[in-house]
Amino acid sequence: MDRKTFIKSIAVIGASPAFAASVPAKGADGKNKTKSESFGGGFVPSARIFKTGRAKLTIRPPEKYAGKLSSLSVSILYGDAAWDGKSDSFSWAKDFPVKYREENGAFAIDADFKKECRYTFVVKDKKRGGNESFVASVPVYALGEDIYALRPFKGDSHIHSTNSDGKNSPEEVALRCYEVGLDYQAISDHSVYSTSEDMKRKFSRFPTSMSFFNAEECHYSHAHIQNFGGSQSLTEYVKKNRGEFDALVAEIEKTLPADASAVVRRNVAVAEAEFDFIRRLGGIAVFNHPFWEAEPKKGKYTHMESRMLDLIAGRKKFDAYELVNSTCADIALARALCHYPRHCAGKPVIGCTDAHSVDSQGTGYTIVFAKSCDFPDIKDAVLGGKSLAVDAYSSHGSKLQRLAFGDERLVRFSYFLFDEYFPLHDELVAREGKLIKGALESGSKDYSEIAEAARAVEGLYESMLG
Ligand SMILES: [Zn+2]
Ligand SMILES: [Zn+2]
Repeated sequence: MDRKTFIKSIAVIGASPAFAASVPAKGADGKNKTKSESFGGGFVPSARIFKTGRAKLTIRPPEKYAGKLSSLSVSILYGDAAWDGKSDSFSWAKDFPVKYREENGAFAIDADFKKECRYTFVVKDKKRGGNESFVASVPVYALGEDIYALRPFKGDSHIHSTNSDGKNSPEEVALRCYEVGLDYQAISDHSVYSTSEDMKRKFSRFPTSMSFFNAEECHYSHAHIQNFGGSQSLTEYVKKNRGEFDALVAEIEKTLPADASAVVRRNVAVAEAEFDFIRRLGGIAVFNHPFWEAEPKKGKYTHMESRMLDLIAGRKKFDAYELVNSTCADIALARALCHYPRHCAGKPVIGCTDAHSVDSQGTGYTIVFAKSCDFPDIKDAVLGGKSLAVDAYSSHGSKLQRLAFGDERLVRFSYFLFDEYFPLHDELVAREGKLIKGALESGSKDYSEIAEAARAVEGLYESMLG
């Protein structure tokens, strides 16, 4: 089955258990699946995610091997996965025998996934030797129970539209989020909250897999602060409660070092008051792009004085640090990677594009490991440190690289997802977006195809769970 037919077939099958059985394996060339390559091999499953510990894994070869299972063997590629740290058998790029039996035309393996890491089962043709004998591989990731219970959701909570200084309309921005394979989006215009509300309303008629969250980038301080998911506009809320806000700022100023300048003290206090008010509104308070460099014709300058920046970071009053802002210059990420561990290591991280044009969307995002893609669960997960900031780097060159930052366990797992889950996930989300775009253009009220496409997105991850 070529990739196009495959994508079509899973969109129809949706989240049914039969879907899992239709996922073909990684090609015999062993290369990672990319957008331009078709899946090959036909081994089922193509990839699996298990809980650590003992598990049963069944690998079903494609039709052409029916009745010829004895000509194949299954082994396991050892690495960190199997090394006990005592024996001297550690050897990279070498695979070792694994115990299996044949059951109903498939290999039944009793596996013991002792460590949380990637495992690779290798299928070989016993009649052929050397490199020629490689037929297919089935990558498996074993996860601790805490992460196994969660699902990865990809989102961008910092994007601009024509309602502030963005180049594209809110609708174009919202549809572009589908094209780049996101699970949630939050358009955050400068001091404007209503764009995110409008898009949430506009798309609510569709049975979509995408979550629409509210957001706004706030500008009472030199520091740009994100109201991510708050129940109303912080900009408006402060206007209505100015006395209370100013009193809070004055209180905070008293706690700041006396040797800092009045401007620094004022701006740090205002930023912290914003964090406090965003939390009152139920949102996540994000310290945006600490090292953004504006580039007017006259030269470059950072938008925040360094003492101000260090104080905001070091006092850790925000909920999350925007570690990746993929439209900032490289230096912003480089400096943030030095600054974050020194001043606020362990604080939750966010990745986003801050796109002002649809061309930049998809180049940065957050992966949140959450129970669901509803805001309360996303918020719990971010506050609990279950998020990764990802720079997808496509704006910096033709080669797509993904740099993920955050908790090491999650970072490690995310690279399995980049190989085995997100390529397919992203295509399914894009397909759903195309159908929604079509419905918006035609005014059609038949959303059945959209519902099926959304179910395919929602069922994909579950279909990989062992
Ligand atoms: Zn900004
Ligand atoms: Zn922005």
